[in-house]
Amino acid sequence: MRKFGWEKIFALGVAASLALTALGGQWMERRTAKQAFYPVRLAGRQLILDAGHGGEDGGAVSVTGVPESQINLAVTLKLDQLLGFYGLSAILLRESDISLHDPSAGTLREKKVSDLHNRVSAIESVPNALVVSIHQNTFPDPAYHGSQVFFRDGEESQAVAQAISEALQTLDPENHRKCAKIPDSVYLMKHITCPAALVECGFLSNVAEEEKLRNGGYQTQLALCIAAGVLKWENRGGEIQGPVV
Ligand SMILES: [Zn+2]
Repeated sequence: MRKFGWEKIFALGVAASLALTALGGQWMERRTAKQAFYPVRLAGRQLILDAGHGGEDGGAVSVTGVPESQINLAVTLKLDQLLGFYGLSAILLRESDISLHDPSAGTLREKKVSDLHNRVSAIESVPNALVVSIHQNTFPDPAYHGSQVFFRDGEESQAVAQAISEALQTLDPENHRKCAKIPDSVYLMKHITCPAALVECGFLSNVAEEEKLRNGGYQTQLALCIAAGVLKWENRGGEIQGPVV
């Protein structure tokens, strides 16, 4: 049995990312990638990945007209792929550009409310869940840029957010934005009861950052940092177990 430290987790993630790139830019089918590596000791939590918005609810719109929901989904799918290399099988609330509303919802408002209710129900139905929600930021002043990670109340939420935030800083060492508590106005986070972190990957209102956020390679880098943060958190106080030989 071999043991891996934090630096090697990141290095392995880079290697995994490069391997995927070498496959002609094609991501392997999800279930295949999940079998490629070995199971990691879980911290007793079932990871749920929430690609924010979707379908008619595009969320924020970028300076070139790209809806946040598309970038959220792209980063989430890449994140799921990368975590799969470590044997982490996440539950994805959505895997395509859809809203999760009930068929009976009519207006856009009704669909949005129903979508959020259903996300809460889906999360609450999973015992010992840990949620990582992926979003993109926007602000009237186009000068603002950089990622920021938010957390629900509680030690675990704060720890996972901090780990993700530190990993994301390797992408942008100038970004010193601290983790912050999720405001109560965020319906999903107010109504779930498990630990959760919400990642705002960057600002769609900043021209330079928006261009990066639309780029598949940069999305992979973001996913890699978030994966590294989750793995680091999951490995708190111990070491990740390598393959049994
Ligand atoms: Zn959002």
